[in-house]
Amino acid sequence: AGGRAYRAFDVDSVKEYVAGQEEVAERLGTKTPGEMRAREVGDGNLNLVFIVEGPGGAVVVKQALPYVRLVGDSWPLPLERAYFEWNALTRQAAHQPHRLPRLFHFDALNALIVMEYLTPHVILRKELIAGKRFDHLAEHMGIFLAETLFHGSDFHLDKAKKKADMALFADNVELCAITENLVFTEPYFDAPLNRWTRPQLDGPARALQSDRAVKVGVQEMLYRFTTKSEALLHGDLHTGSVMVTGSDTRVIDPEFAFYGPMGFDIGAFLANLFLAYFAQDGHEARPDERHTYGEWLLETAENVWSVFSETFARLWREERTGILYARALFEDAGDETGATIGLHRFLGGVFEDAVGFAGAKMVRRLVGLAHVEDMESIGDPDRRAACEVKALLMGRELLVNRTTFGDIYGLSCLARAIR
Ligand code: ADP
Ligand code: MG
Ligand code: MG
Ligand code: MG
Repeated sequence: AGGRAYRAFDVDSVKEYVAGQEEVAERLGTKTPGEMRAREVGDGNLNLVFIVEGPGGAVVVKQALPYVRLVGDSWPLPLERAYFEWNALTRQAAHQPHRLPRLFHFDALNALIVMEYLTPHVILRKELIAGKRFDHLAEHMGIFLAETLFHGSDFHLDKAKKKADMALFADNVELCAITENLVFTEPYFDAPLNRWTRPQLDGPARALQSDRAVKVGVQEMLYRFTTKSEALLHGDLHTGSVMVTGSDTRVIDPEFAFYGPMGFDIGAFLANLFLAYFAQDGHEARPDERHTYGEWLLETAENVWSVFSETFARLWREERTGILYARALFEDAGDETGATIGLHRFLGGVFEDAVGFAGAKMVRRLVGLAHVEDMESIGDPDRRAACEVKALLMGRELLVNRTTFGDIYGLSCLARAIR
């Protein structure tokens, strides 16, 4: 249609927009904007998020802006990220639909996605700051990681489909570049956007920037990030991308999706659990009040990995039908042991990657541009700095010694020893 162009919506124009989308209007129970209520709730760094409610129901409209919301129009960012987010969501939905918002509508021109309004779900990060436990979180996330990463890899995908899909996501250049710069590069030199709790972290941050072992380690992780096209990743799987209730878990916001190393998603989630762990001392009203809660966070990290690896092992046995169809070499030749050895060697590599990526993800949240609310919400800067220094120590260890931990219990031991 001639003359149609992208426009950023506001709380009024978004109602007119959904009124014109027949299926969406049906969900809301009205085609009349005047019978709708809309509010903008985006708390992320990048996009607009509207909740639009009508007499019959509610939807979320997530719209990309042509610039980074956190910084302003001085930092342009392509609208196409909504396209990558939609494509990632639809691929994840093929295997884990119950872990995502239901998907209603995609509009490439306006760079927006209409989806289920998750309620009474709350962002996981906020609940971890409040000290709340979620009995099913580790199981849900471990399965989500295994199902999406296995099915998004050469172990399962048809070879032509994998290559076509890699080509599609290879265009998500700018969002990958954000990670390449902000996670793997800028925290390790005197980049203008870096920030940290000053002056308390001046020493540790400067020490990091002159630490050759850590810089060599992070460079190796960046190289894995850019070269290891193992599986379709979520790409931004922190605790702000997970919404929970007491019994449910949903994963949102995969706009950073691309074909990368499986350990990147796993490491991102583990890193955010460890950041939450080190922040707990800053949230205590009385000494040791959050001690057992901290132990729950570490157990959750342990269980995420165990559930991930158990689920991955089952998929390896039952659904290894992609280009890496090694059954002819192993199971079909009566060599179950060979198949199992292959699995364990593969998972060992994923674990080492996850450790290194977790380290990089922790460090960037402490001395890079974007920080985490877990730490930022600790009002007293001395108290916050005490938590941050410990988390930074762990991040450094993970980057430098990623091959030495053996298993997930090595990581929780280290966290405990540092706190
Ligand atoms: P960004 O890419 O800008 O980080 P997100 O997709 O993370 O955007 O959404 C920002 C915020 O909007 C989330 O933290 C959450 O509070 C809210 N939100 C996003 N999607 C939904 C949804 N489907 N249901 C309810 N709230 C949502
Ligand atoms: Mg987000
Ligand atoms: Mg965000
Ligand atoms: Mg996002």
